[in-house]
Amino acid sequence: MDQPNLNLRVAVIGAGTMGIGIAQVAAAAGHQVQLFDIAASAARQALGALAQRLRQRVAAGKADATTTEALLARIQPAESLNSLADSGLVIEAVAEKLAIKQSLFRDLEALCSPATLFASNTSSLSITAIAGALQHPQRLAGLHFFNPAPLMKLVEIVSGLDTSAETVATLQRLTRQWGKQSVLCRSTPGFIVNRVARPFYAEALRALEEQVADAATLDAVIRDAGGFAMGPMQLTDMIGQDINYAVTESVFQAFFQDPRFTPSLVQQELVAAGRLGRKSGRGFYRYGDHQPPVAAVLPASTAALPRSITLHGDAAGIALLSKLLSGNAQSIKQSGQTSAYARIDEVTLMLTNGKTASQVADETATPVVLFDLSADYSQATSVAISCAAQNDARHNATIVRLLQSLGKKVIALPDYPGLLVMRTLAMLANEALDVVNKGVASAEDTDHAMRYGVNYPRGPLEWGTSLGWQHILTTLENLQLYYGEPRYRPMPLLRHYASLSSGAQP
Ligand code: NAD
Repeated sequence: MDQPNLNLRVAVIGAGTMGIGIAQVAAAAGHQVQLFDIAASAARQALGALAQRLRQRVAAGKADATTTEALLARIQPAESLNSLADSGLVIEAVAEKLAIKQSLFRDLEALCSPATLFASNTSSLSITAIAGALQHPQRLAGLHFFNPAPLMKLVEIVSGLDTSAETVATLQRLTRQWGKQSVLCRSTPGFIVNRVARPFYAEALRALEEQVADAATLDAVIRDAGGFAMGPMQLTDMIGQDINYAVTESVFQAFFQDPRFTPSLVQQELVAAGRLGRKSGRGFYRYGDHQPPVAAVLPASTAALPRSITLHGDAAGIALLSKLLSGNAQSIKQSGQTSAYARIDEVTLMLTNGKTASQVADETATPVVLFDLSADYSQATSVAISCAAQNDARHNATIVRLLQSLGKKVIALPDYPGLLVMRTLAMLANEALDVVNKGVASAEDTDHAMRYGVNYPRGPLEWGTSLGWQHILTTLENLQLYYGEPRYRPMPLLRHYASLSSGAQP
């Protein structure tokens, strides 16, 4: 890693949650840092709390005493804005209000040298609008850290309309030297992460509202079957229901109330009730002494194992089925058709494509069980399925027995179109393609942002490419037909990739 320019003096304004974390990051990289807050003792208090936290780590043998004391000595509280005049970089993490940020940068521009770079940690305001207050808007960019800043790898570097390439390049170099993974994006609502991630919450909240399953079961589908680190209910309880709701609401308003970002009534109710998640002791779950609720997993089936398993379809679909079935097929009939399926005795088992199992059973005149998507079937501890209303109980029992014999816990959802992981990925990938199509960020940076900013197991675009864009398109088209809502409309770039040969990638 190249060394940071340690002559660059860094100022951080706002000593709240984010400001103190950003100051720690810059000081850990070796910079002298000044921390200023409008509230008289806020900077000193935040530094005191940081010192206490870091010294506890030293006492627990988790950090080195000399390094820790040197880091702490590099951060100084500033008594006034004037003392920041000789900073080379000023990062603001003050209240999320446009007028406050604009007035702050106007004051700084009058104080600092023309060479000083300005950065805003805003999560939702337009960088163009913040820079609009400056005489030299080219020196300002967004530097969007994630909470907690010292731990989260990702930083979004956001360009406003007038941000110069030089400003971006300097911030790119600097954040790399600080050990961060940076991605570049244009100033648009939600930047990359807070926009592309909306469906992760929205689809699960919708499923909850439609009474598909309880929160613990839906979380288990996303986490244990899908391969995400946490379920959406668990995660929003951690983030705070009020914070997560406010981000959705802000993205929804900023996109002129586009229905694909419509906030959830279920979440609005939680916020209204003060059930904000962990911080208030109750959100979707209760905290404290309460036992966490468990997911509804099917009991061990006593049915006989199937007599025959045959895989049909194209190479990619067969590969996916083979992973789910751990290579247990007796025969494979490869063909050019894109919707692959396994015939297990007389039952059709296939990956959900946005139709209900009952619809597929009607079309195929066979009993049908659909399974949900996983980031990695071999690692997943669970698999989610839905069964057609036309099936006999013994059809379902055979499939459940087979999947359980492969070591999977089975979660049977009602006959819900697109199940949960598949519809979530389809919507994430659709949004990511819109980001790319509109030049907000590159495909690579969009995937990186989701991997490092919210720890997704796979980037939505790489995942979509490996699954096949046609399957994503079909899923969304079927969901759009089913609901009759513009929320599921496929983006132009999705139609484009789906029309190309398989393996096309953004
Ligand atoms: P916070 O409320 O914890 O801290 C804000 C601090 O700024 C307070 O100490 C306040 O006294 C100070 N302040 C307000 N106006 C000021 C001014 N004019 N001059 C100097 N100090 C002033 O807020 P936070 O959660 O740290 O968020 C700060 C910024 O970072 C916001 O723009 C927010 O959108 C963004 N952000 C927050 C998170 C998060 O998870 N909290 C994540 C990414 C970005």
